[in-house]
Amino acid sequence: MSKQKRYFLTEDDLPTHWYNVQADMPNKPGKMVNPVTKKEMTVDDLSHVFARECCVQELDQEHPWIEIPAEVREMYKSYRCTPLVRAYALEKALGTPAHIYFKNESVNPLGSHKINSALPQCYYCKQEGTTNVTTETGAGQWGAALSYAAKLFGLEAAVFQVKISMQQKPYRSSIMRTFGAVVEGSPSMSTKAGRRILTENPLHPGSLGTAISEAIELATSTSHCKYTLGSVLNHVTLHQTIIGLEAEKQMALAGEYPDIVIGCFGGGSNFGGISMPFLRHNFLDGKKTQFIAAEPESCPKLTRGKFGLDFGDEAGYTPLIPMLSIGHKFKPANIHAGGLRYHGSGAIVAELVRDGFVTAVDIPQLESFEASILFARTEGIIPAPESGHAIAEVIREAQKCKESGEEKVILFNLSGHGLIDMTAYEAYLHGDLQNFKVSEEEIAFNLREN
Ligand SMILES: *Cc1c(COP(=O)(O)O)cnc(C)c1O
Repeated sequence: MSKQKRYFLTEDDLPTHWYNVQADMPNKPGKMVNPVTKKEMTVDDLSHVFARECCVQELDQEHPWIEIPAEVREMYKSYRCTPLVRAYALEKALGTPAHIYFKNESVNPLGSHKINSALPQCYYCKQEGTTNVTTETGAGQWGAALSYAAKLFGLEAAVFQVKISMQQKPYRSSIMRTFGAVVEGSPSMSTKAGRRILTENPLHPGSLGTAISEAIELATSTSHCKYTLGSVLNHVTLHQTIIGLEAEKQMALAGEYPDIVIGCFGGGSNFGGISMPFLRHNFLDGKKTQFIAAEPESCPKLTRGKFGLDFGDEAGYTPLIPMLSIGHKFKPANIHAGGLRYHGSGAIVAELVRDGFVTAVDIPQLESFEASILFARTEGIIPAPESGHAIAEVIREAQKCKESGEEKVILFNLSGHGLIDMTAYEAYLHGDLQNFKVSEEEIAFNLREN
């Protein structure tokens, strides 16, 4: 065994700053807009809802490097750096000349990349005198990360979980409660937004959009309470760049540089987290790396959405966000990659797709599970169903390399493990899963509803 498989950094080599890609983008991402006044949102406007420091980061288009607070960096050290792994066994199974690497964000005890942003968001809330935090969660990874981070900082957490996910994955709620959070299924009867949604549609399965509405309503109607978000917004992507910044150093240890970087795409945080530090070198050093976001066919905002201003939630409580969207009232199909069922992309990736720096592909559910199973059987890690979309795209690219004989270097982010998603694997192995392609009519209908 002379081939090195895993690459680590020492604590001293952990990045000290996050990378703010907004500063280097040739066309800046659009700003959030107040739906009533149509004016651009300021830090003051946004800080009614979010920790003020997160709002400053959200709107910062000037500073490329933002210092990681010392306390957060110390906490990162309890589970970072995460390994960069060369997937030799997968390469062999595919018979590809491509070199496949993955950054393994599944190895922290929360099981996904979400903790990378939960820690700084709770840190800033605590610093600013907040006592309570609210949030939404789909599959539950963000809710779990936030519940744990809140506990570390002595904050009370209230989590609205998409009702259908809560029913499909009851252990996720138990995890959040174990960390001390209060968890409610959304739509619920405990907010105005929830009651309105249930009045219109008593069987509403819930969506990230409904849960966000409820969490924001609770935050803005409770003193010393702030809302936190696990994806979509620029400051969340900023925190997640710790992934790509480590990967950049680890790829250097491996003596390689990626030709292609791939991430699965829900709202953009893990994709942005692994991609932006490398994209920086396309902007500044003439690198030609390709960046591919892999979204589910059942929720195709990047490949089939419309660019424009849309709400981030069902009820329309958020500012209007410049995004690629299939409509904020979109009710996603009941697919198993719960973390990818969001109707819009963040502003940064929307602009990067428009400008041709990022390409997007949509992946059918069955192809994604097939890819996950191959990955599990070769690399010994059961991927989160979300991550399976990235793996499916990696396999497509590796097969292209096999046909062309090109020895491309492919890097992807393994955003989480699937050990609490075994119901989904069970359904796949029994042949009970289907593909869900959204019809043109449904997308057009949802966009008209806006
Ligand atoms: C939440 C989640 C995603 C999707 O969210 P992004 O913000 O697009 O990264 C992907 N994978 C896992 C494991 C998740 O928990």
